[in-house]
Amino acid sequence: MKIAMVGSGYVGLVSGACFADFGHDVVCIDKDQSKIDALHQGIMPIYEPGLAELVGTNVKAGRLSFTTDLAKGIEGAQAIFIAVGTPSRRGDGHADLTFVYAVAEEVGASLSNDAVIVTKSTVPVGTGDEVERILEASGTAHKFAVVSNPEFLREGAAIGDFKRPDRIVIGSESEFGREVMREVYRPLFLNESPILFTSRRSAELIKYAANAFLATKITFINEMADLCEKVGANVQDVSRGIGSDNRIGPKFLHAGPGYGGSCFPKDTLALLKTAEDYESPVRIVEAVVKTNETRKRAMGRKVVDALAKHYGGGPDAVRGKKVALLGLTFKPNTDDMRDSPAIAIAQTLHDAGVVVAAYDPEGMDIAAPLMPEVTMTDDPYQAIEGADAIAIVTEWDVFRALDFSRVKDLANAPILVDLRNIYDPEDVRAAGFEYSSIGRA
Ligand code: NAD
Repeated sequence: MKIAMVGSGYVGLVSGACFADFGHDVVCIDKDQSKIDALHQGIMPIYEPGLAELVGTNVKAGRLSFTTDLAKGIEGAQAIFIAVGTPSRRGDGHADLTFVYAVAEEVGASLSNDAVIVTKSTVPVGTGDEVERILEASGTAHKFAVVSNPEFLREGAAIGDFKRPDRIVIGSESEFGREVMREVYRPLFLNESPILFTSRRSAELIKYAANAFLATKITFINEMADLCEKVGANVQDVSRGIGSDNRIGPKFLHAGPGYGGSCFPKDTLALLKTAEDYESPVRIVEAVVKTNETRKRAMGRKVVDALAKHYGGGPDAVRGKKVALLGLTFKPNTDDMRDSPAIAIAQTLHDAGVVVAAYDPEGMDIAAPLMPEVTMTDDPYQAIEGADAIAIVTEWDVFRALDFSRVKDLANAPILVDLRNIYDPEDVRAAGFEYSSIGRA
């Protein structure tokens, strides 16, 4: 089966490479010439574990190719996926559908055979209707169907998630659409991954509802963590205590600095806008968005407080002090910096007159222009050198076993603020650190 993937970013490239690995003939298309040039040279434009190997194998086998030429790329494809970005629209928080509609226009103008056009991008309810309208308006003589197939992969574990999904959601109004999609996912179907066929609008909403629910779970445990600090409880025990209830489940119950990334912030916001448009408020999600937003700066203040406590004399005492930020990406095993809490934390520190040095294994190239006031370093210990406090922002493995005696030698003061709860408080305190973490009184 021939598949075209329009948009070769985190979702498009991973999906395209996995489909090729299933045996399909895949063309990944992107309008960014530098991305396609890099892919032609075997260089991955993003960091995702296992991706370079997967792409390499499938290119070599002749099942995966790349182009900037959409008309050529979609030629003969029975399924044309749209996997372009849908960022928050500047000013109002609605999903910006410019890229999706531009692809629909281009596909309409170049369609040269019957095909199913599949929206993999996360798009608000009703977008499929508009894509269909655009294709109809193009006057194409070919039979087509517009299907919604939202993607649930997680960056950092994207290949495993794509190949072994909890479920595949396919929203289609036509049998032609369902038939082609069954063929696309047949290899997974044989793997017994459940395929859920729904209406197109239901599929579009499922993606937002899933992300909003996960964001709610994170925000819930973060607020419980704050309460734990006040009442003298331990949020990790609370998480275990509630998460072992099958009705709740243990995942997404790790307290931290607030959710970030390319999906939860923009998707929760877009869901609020949809709800507003339809006059059907989603008040829980409203509270989640607001709570998460204020949390990020609160985490910066937590670091300032730890400094102020050590040096005495209130917030002014922190001016000119140096903080080492360990981890910048919104989670480990990705280079994605979109809406990472680290950005607001660094900004809060900077606003308080604190000098910031940082280290992240994969995110620094992208982070540097986003946080020009931060000095990027070559390794964790270089960031720690001369630091008055160390803050762990992302739980990369490399930060899980810091050499404490080396850290104490290099740092000005032994203050460790662990925003991911990766250390045992007793161990760290025994090593002579002033240690604070999240929700562990
Ligand atoms: P991305 O920014 O990494 O990739 C999008 C790509 O589309 C870019 O390479 C861009 O150059 C390309 N593009 C834009 N317009 C184009 C056009 N007209 N023709 C060809 N290419 C074009 O974005 P992403 O993270 O892969 O996200 C894509 C979609 O998938 C979004 O809607 C996102 O919400 C959704 N999603 C993302 C994730 C994730 O973890 N990143 C997970 C699930 C769903």
